[in-house]
Amino acid sequence: MMYCKYCGKEVESDAMVCVHCGRSLKECEDSIEDSGHFGWGVLGFFVPLAGLILYILWRTEKPKNSTAAGRGALISACFIVGLFILSILVVVIIFASAATSQGVFSKLIYSLPSNFGHLKLA
Ligand SMILES: [Zn+2]
Repeated sequence: MMYCKYCGKEVESDAMVCVHCGRSLKECEDSIEDSGHFGWGVLGFFVPLAGLILYILWRTEKPKNSTAAGRGALISACFIVGLFILSILVVVIIFASAATSQGVFSKLIYSLPSNFGHLKLA
């Protein structure tokens, strides 16, 4: 036996609905609390799409969880965009240095041994 969380009367432990007040018992047991737990943010960060879906689904029902999931997804999105821009920059720099025979990086790398060589000769 367990007690109904709404009216406090005894109900069957496997009852879906309270026989006294008629409110659903099962639904509330299964539902996730709106705690705004950071775990939802972590989920949103690693799975931005899931975070976005949860954000939309929970906007009215669970605003705290919704915000947490949405924030995680937003941070993730910023992170991905940042990485994307960074990788583009790296590719552009590599191509720019490869395109010219005297690239920035090759200039740096090849100038070092020759400098040492000059020191040895002197
Ligand atoms: Zn009840």
